[in-house]
Amino acid sequence: MAFPSSQVRLRYVGSLAPLGSEGKGAAALTLWCFVTVIIDGQWGKRAYKSKYDATSGSVTVMGKHTGEVLWGGTKNKRCAVCEFAERMKIPVRKHTCAKNYTGPSTAMEAALAVEAFLSSLEMHGVRFLLYIGDGDSNVEKKLQAAMPYGATFRIQKIECKNHLLRNLRRHLMEIAADTNTNAIDKTMSVSLRKVVKERVLRLSAGLCS
Ligand SMILES: [Zn+2]
Repeated sequence: MAFPSSQVRLRYVGSLAPLGSEGKGAAALTLWCFVTVIIDGQWGKRAYKSKYDATSGSVTVMGKHTGEVLWGGTKNKRCAVCEFAERMKIPVRKHTCAKNYTGPSTAMEAALAVEAFLSSLEMHGVRFLLYIGDGDSNVEKKLQAAMPYGATFRIQKIECKNHLLRNLRRHLMEIAADTNTNAIDKTMSVSLRKVVKERVLRLSAGLCS
């Protein structure tokens, strides 16, 4: 078993298990190394909440305790060399093709996250059992379905406080700015919106406590 570098801070559980032939009946400590990681995606184009059609995206995985980048990967739906050859109707010259993804842009982050988890044991000798991520439930579903460490180790998600806070504040500000109300008492509606606006920070502060 490959052990991680000292840079990776570990939380592990040990259990005594009989060794194989090399142990000659002695007992060995089996280490299951778990690292809590932070995962987030970056995109070649901003989605503006609805148009998720970026042609390239990447995912970075960082250790929560060390801040060390443990994995990074990119998916591209296009390759400039291939497209140039197609446009000019000439044979594609030998190249390292950048195109490595054909699925929908919305599934890019999940595909990369699965790759990251699948390579954690080989790269670092650890399992990413807990991860901190944003509100994208697609990543969580794909990781649960992929079971990169088998059925014994179930991956769990911790909701990212920064993303939660940002989304909550955005929704509260939208409510405060929404003048298109169907309320019968519009005066009350205006006053209530003012109340919400004044308390945006206070309402979201609960997440930080
Ligand atoms: Zn290519």
